[in-house]
Amino acid sequence: KEITDINLLVDEYLHVSYSGMEAKDKTFNVKLVTDYDESIGKIEVVQQDIGRVLLNLYNNAFYAVSEKKRAINVQTAEIYQPTVLVSTKKITGRVKICVRDNGVGIPEEIVDKIFQPFFTTKPTGQGTGLGLSLSYDILKANEGEIKVETKEGEYSEFIIELPLK
Ligand code: ADP
Ligand code: MG
Repeated sequence: KEITDINLLVDEYLHVSYSGMEAKDKTFNVKLVTDYDESIGKIEVVQQDIGRVLLNLYNNAFYAVSEKKRAINVQTAEIYQPTVLVSTKKITGRVKICVRDNGVGIPEEIVDKIFQPFFTTKPTGQGTGLGLSLSYDILKANEGEIKVETKEGEYSEFIIELPLK
């Protein structure tokens, strides 16, 4: 484990993911909103593990807003600003990291399955279905947790908690 500025880690991986998306899609116009709690200080984590969790959450979020943009473009001329919000917050004994997107959301029928290995709704070659199951295992091994709140067609928010130590 390395003593880590969690805000810096959260922000660095956000930009890695964002740049990757921007390079692939010339019409990528996702608005990023970040809100980092400066009182967190440093915590001990395996940076590579938490990095993998974050990267998958960001990639999923950018994918979800791109899907929604595609759906809106074919149906209506509705104004849609794809947006991803990332925040950190210190709560008693723990750090909370939230990644929220206003993309396609997750249907109620599948929300219980998304943390299972190999569960994916993405076309072959675009998703392995391993990101969230791996994230679940990583958080569990670090006395943390990962949860989701979502509404189909509106938003998804993934919430990570890690011990503050
Ligand atoms: P993959 O990205 O390879 O499909 P994940 O384990 O990362 O695998 O995610 C599993 C599934 O959970 C996705 O295929 C998708 O159906 C759903 N999902 C995850 N994140 C989001 C999100 N931000 N918005 C909508 N659906 C999501
Ligand atoms: Mg994924």
